[in-house]
Amino acid sequence: MSLPTTMKAVLVEQTGGPEVLQFKTDYPVPTPAEGQLLVKNNICGINYIDTYFRTGLYPSPKPEILGREAAGTVAAVGPGPNPANFQVGDRVAWLATGGYAEYSAVSVGKAVKIPAGVSDEDLMGSFLSGLTVLTLAKETYPVQAGEWVLLHAAAGGAGFLMTQILKSIGAKVIGTAGGAEKVALVKSLGADVVIDYRSEEGKDWVKKVKEVTGGRGVDVVYDSVGKDTWEGSLEAVKRKGTIVWFGNASGPVPPLPLNKLSPKCVKIARPTLFGYIETREEFEFYVNELFRLLQSGQLKVKIHKIYPLEEVAQAHKDLEGRKSTGKLLLRA
Ligand code: NDP
Repeated sequence: MSLPTTMKAVLVEQTGGPEVLQFKTDYPVPTPAEGQLLVKNNICGINYIDTYFRTGLYPSPKPEILGREAAGTVAAVGPGPNPANFQVGDRVAWLATGGYAEYSAVSVGKAVKIPAGVSDEDLMGSFLSGLTVLTLAKETYPVQAGEWVLLHAAAGGAGFLMTQILKSIGAKVIGTAGGAEKVALVKSLGADVVIDYRSEEGKDWVKKVKEVTGGRGVDVVYDSVGKDTWEGSLEAVKRKGTIVWFGNASGPVPPLPLNKLSPKCVKIARPTLFGYIETREEFEFYVNELFRLLQSGQLKVKIHKIYPLEEVAQAHKDLEGRKSTGKLLLRA
């Protein structure tokens, strides 16, 4: 296969709003280094973390091509280790950086062949997000059947999948979501109680959580909203309960005096997916579980919209403007 020397890509040279996402048509195609594959991307996932790197909330070297995951075809195999025996033409998914582009050079260690019967679209609708929620429900706090769980932003990319995983475990799920359409979507997944936390009635969602749980509070809160919800999450959790903060959609949680945790003996976790899938064995464990759930139809995927690469700024606006349900994708 002869490779082009330039490609379409979206470059960020300085931090800022969606306007810093620059669409290029003549960006150099990367060369795979030792232990890397060159992948011709088909679909790239858009994740909230991309906005943190764009704004500078999470520091990263610039210029940068955002995009932590994509599905596509192996276009070239770099020298060195290739334990999974990747070949040119294999359909693969990967976790790395540089996905907002036609081609990405990625480590063989975080790439995987996509099994037949799993589409690129379904996999990107559930890859980084799905692996995250599997680790959160299994390792960060091993959710048990019958436990009360409060899940914020339950209609979002991660939330849509997390609601299903929690219900499949047999947990009792209280979801929060902004607006009637999102509430209906989360209810359709079997959530026990869904609160529209942007409505007048749902504003006091802590009170509602207390009512539903007979005054006790929930066993665990999964909070990816951060700044706007962290105080309520501390109130809504039960004595000896756990709060899992895993994102900052509304801004980061301010520095937290640890003595705030003592009255109820609360445990706090601040996990990140990549910390759970560092080794190939850990990565494959969760990837295989995700493939099983997708192939058996147990995990439904919701794609908000597939945007062309040149419309990535609009995609970021929609994500940050709380306009989306499920996952936003880019076609490379
Ligand atoms: P989502 O599709 O969930 O989008 C974010 C959602 O957060 C919005 O749709 C909105 O839902 C809600 N939200 C609440 N307040 C705000 C606000 N002020 N501005 C914008 N959105 C707000 O995104 P993702 O699925 O990509 O990610 C979900 C969260 O999970 C993010 O915080 C992300 O950082 C985190 N994450 C963490 C990982 C980790 O390893 N720690 C890995 C993957 C994701 P609503 O309108 O219903 O309020």
